[in-house]
Amino acid sequence: MDLAAPPALLTRRHLHVAGAWVDPSSGDTIPVENPATGKTVGEVPAGAPADVDRAVAAARAAFPGWAATAPADRAAHLDRLYTALAARADEIARTVATELGTPLKLATRVQAGLPLIVLRGMVELAARPTAEQVVGNSLVVREPVGVVGAITPWNYPLHQVVAKVAPALAAGCTVVLKPSELTPLTAYLLFDAVTEAGLPPGVVNLVPGTGPVVGEALAAHPDVDLVSFTGSTATGRRIAHLAADRIARVALELGGKSANVILADADLPTAVKVGVGNALLNSGQTCTAWTRMLVHRDRYAEALDLVAAAVAGYRPGDPFDPATRLGPLVSAAQAQRVRDHVDRALADGARLVAGGPDAPLPPHGHFVAPTVFADVHPDSALAQEEVFGPVLAVIPFADTDEAVAIANNSRYGLAGAVWSADSDAALAVARRMRTGQVDINGGAFNPLAPFGGYKQSGLGRELGGYGLEEFTELKAIQR
Ligand code: NAD
Repeated sequence: MDLAAPPALLTRRHLHVAGAWVDPSSGDTIPVENPATGKTVGEVPAGAPADVDRAVAAARAAFPGWAATAPADRAAHLDRLYTALAARADEIARTVATELGTPLKLATRVQAGLPLIVLRGMVELAARPTAEQVVGNSLVVREPVGVVGAITPWNYPLHQVVAKVAPALAAGCTVVLKPSELTPLTAYLLFDAVTEAGLPPGVVNLVPGTGPVVGEALAAHPDVDLVSFTGSTATGRRIAHLAADRIARVALELGGKSANVILADADLPTAVKVGVGNALLNSGQTCTAWTRMLVHRDRYAEALDLVAAAVAGYRPGDPFDPATRLGPLVSAAQAQRVRDHVDRALADGARLVAGGPDAPLPPHGHFVAPTVFADVHPDSALAQEEVFGPVLAVIPFADTDEAVAIANNSRYGLAGAVWSADSDAALAVARRMRTGQVDINGGAFNPLAPFGGYKQSGLGRELGGYGLEEFTELKAIQR
């Protein structure tokens, strides 16, 4: 296999329903674009509500059998899925590099690597019998919630899928998946692995299509018990409305505007290097990105010099070039949205430190230069709105109370960071931050820790044992 070249035209013509590749109800298709070139590289079916009905019926039919399957047997199925998926790691990385534009090295490590780690963890959790508890005269048991509708975004196209499908299956639920229409090809590789692993028919089904058609039909379907969604806050709100009509449960993983708080005594070169890398990860198309860098005034000038130097190392380029650290944005529309945010920040008086509208870019594709603004007002649009592109806002603070106030001045609360030579001081700040995850001095991502947001960053948690519990109902049996 030539790992240096993008895959040839990638076209898929089927849905995956009840354990088989089946024809869609209509011949409509959705093109898939390579954002580094702007060229179409493949197409997938545009699913219709009738396809959703068929897939939900398959999931409903499979549910009693899968829910009754012993945990060890469910774990054995997931273990086979892991093996089949791991065998496709190179193909996954190349497909994500092609349909999303993630640089191949990063795609290999994160886009292909992370879902495998998450799935491995779920194999182990699935094998454990569900915890039961005695409370007085009650036996409290956990049972699978039922049929799950999973709707996922494009920025980590396999990870977001596995973060839902693996715990749902581990808990004994059955699933209908609608991946993002911008990056559907990676989901097909998962279903190749599902076929190879021989999962029981109907436990997991694939209906590609657009949000307004397939996504809405799935979220509104009367036979879907839980809608598990990752994406924008605006779409999450719509899905919650659709689910509320029938009091169905929702799990929402939404946007963020996370703060990276750098206290006066921090190891500044490390804090800035890691902070810039985090903000620019996947071209800034990361829900947890630390897009607000808060720096103590005593270190502010020094920090800005370090930021500019770090950003210079992220030259946008061809995702298949091993030297590339920054790929394109996923689409022309996304690149334009990001440029609009940059223009607005300039109009609002933020000081351009790196990048900006005039920075050099590759001649084709949806590229935006990595861009840094200093002196960003905490109430300005750039400090408040999720950009979802390679744009960092640097904000000074005078003392810890002000840092915490600025960090919490957001309608989001997904992630964050604190840097200090005093780990107790850092922990005290982390405790005061109204956000679902905080990393102290570059603490590593833990795929078994609960992941999710406060405020408008979402409802519920994914990953690990806490994530698995989202796919269960509690029952109390009195004796
Ligand atoms: P999006 O909301 O546009 O789309 C996400 C999914 O929802 C896609 O599959 C889309 O087809 C579908 N969808 C769109 N409209 C729908 C509707 N009316 N009904 C049902 N489904 C619909 O988001 P996106 O642009 O794909 O992803 C970017 C967003 O996702 C960012 O805001 C980012 O912060 C967020 N995100 C959050 C997390 C997290 O874990 N918190 C992770 C990744 C991305």
